[in-house]
Amino acid sequence: MQYSAIVGINWGDEGKGRMVDLLTAEYDCVVRYQGGGNAGHTVVNDHGKFALHLIPSGIFRDGVVNILGNGVALDPENLWQEIETLRLAGVKITPDNLMISDRASLLMPWHRLQDELEELRLRDKKYGSTKQGIAPFYADKYQKKTLLAGELNYPDSLREHLKEILGWKNLTLTGVYGAEPVREEQIKAWIEEYGEKIRPFIRDTAKILRRLRDEGKSILFEAQLGALRDLDFGIVPYTTSSNALAAYAPVGSGLTDLRLDQVIGVVKAYSTCVGEGPFVCEMFGPEAAALREAGAEYGAKTGRPRRVGPVDLVATRYGVKIQGATAIALTKLDVLSYMEKIPVCTAYEIDGERTEEFPFPVLLDRANPVVEYVDGWHCDISGARIWADLPEAARNYVERIERAVGCPIRYVSVGPERDAIIRR
Ligand code: GDP
Repeated sequence: MQYSAIVGINWGDEGKGRMVDLLTAEYDCVVRYQGGGNAGHTVVNDHGKFALHLIPSGIFRDGVVNILGNGVALDPENLWQEIETLRLAGVKITPDNLMISDRASLLMPWHRLQDELEELRLRDKKYGSTKQGIAPFYADKYQKKTLLAGELNYPDSLREHLKEILGWKNLTLTGVYGAEPVREEQIKAWIEEYGEKIRPFIRDTAKILRRLRDEGKSILFEAQLGALRDLDFGIVPYTTSSNALAAYAPVGSGLTDLRLDQVIGVVKAYSTCVGEGPFVCEMFGPEAAALREAGAEYGAKTGRPRRVGPVDLVATRYGVKIQGATAIALTKLDVLSYMEKIPVCTAYEIDGERTEEFPFPVLLDRANPVVEYVDGWHCDISGARIWADLPEAARNYVERIERAVGCPIRYVSVGPERDAIIRR
């Protein structure tokens, strides 16, 4: 019996989906505890290649219970589309292997609308939102102006509550943004369609989690995005609107007295960042294009080309610290095989001063990367399955990162397939 969290250490897209898919073999239950359908975990397995947005990555394993906790942004329409897509590919999804917390708030069509209107208003200062409504959703949740999934079971009170919230929301949409009000009839029809579809999956999942624990089951807590996108400790304001830290797992899952046994932090062998915001180690020109191509770095949800750079030891050390990582999974090492010399960002220089500490957000715009080059291995490593299979230069590279961030690298991934992994 063990309780582990799997989290991103950097800006997201570190390959968490791939690691959760691998590790679910050791767990009975996988819980998503924060975030919404605005990111995509990519998983490659016997069923095919999938971009998961909201559904926990344990969905591909028989017998694993997958839970969407109270901390997620639950968009019934997107969730239903995801369920349908997976079912079409032959993945079994029933109320026995997918459960939604009755205390999860519902992300409504007006959240997506408001997200879009706000990005338009911000113009060139936009946050780079994926326009899935996540920021307005969490803002409303803190204002106690959301509908809970469990309310779908109480239609009379739901109707009243909807009327109240929609009246309030329309004040913002019309008054602040000059948009048309959202009509109640339209939302009722939407709830009738998508609310009904997801209703069979809604349960008191906090109770179910406690029961699974009492039965001695092992539980994996799956985060979305990475430490640097954390609402409190990330690159504010270019963060997500929830806490992407392992520390949020007890609250967002519903297992409120949870003590995690391990926190597995996923780090990519180089850096990528989607959207706006400071990205100190960013590379440009042909060097960046080559890395982007080699790693196929395009957003799983949006298809946007990702910004790329060398592994950033400053940001990674910070990410490891705030996640409380007890082990690291280093992914996509094989992608660097084409390089003669591999760049590594070892420090930042801010106003002429060198630092290895990740700075306060406003200083990030003034930070320049200090880059060193280490030897590449320049051969195909995607067939390596044990540590000794890796060429010396590759082992040196992994050990260099390990020393710099102060956390053992227990897994090294050399390909997207389930078995393309080295355990140390
Ligand atoms: P996530 O949101 O953290 O799961 O990250 P992504 O969805 O961006 O997943 C990373 C991408 O890299 C996916 O397409 C994976 O299949 C792929 N991937 C994961 N690990 C490896 C690896 O070790 N090598 C290679 N070549 N690809 C990988």
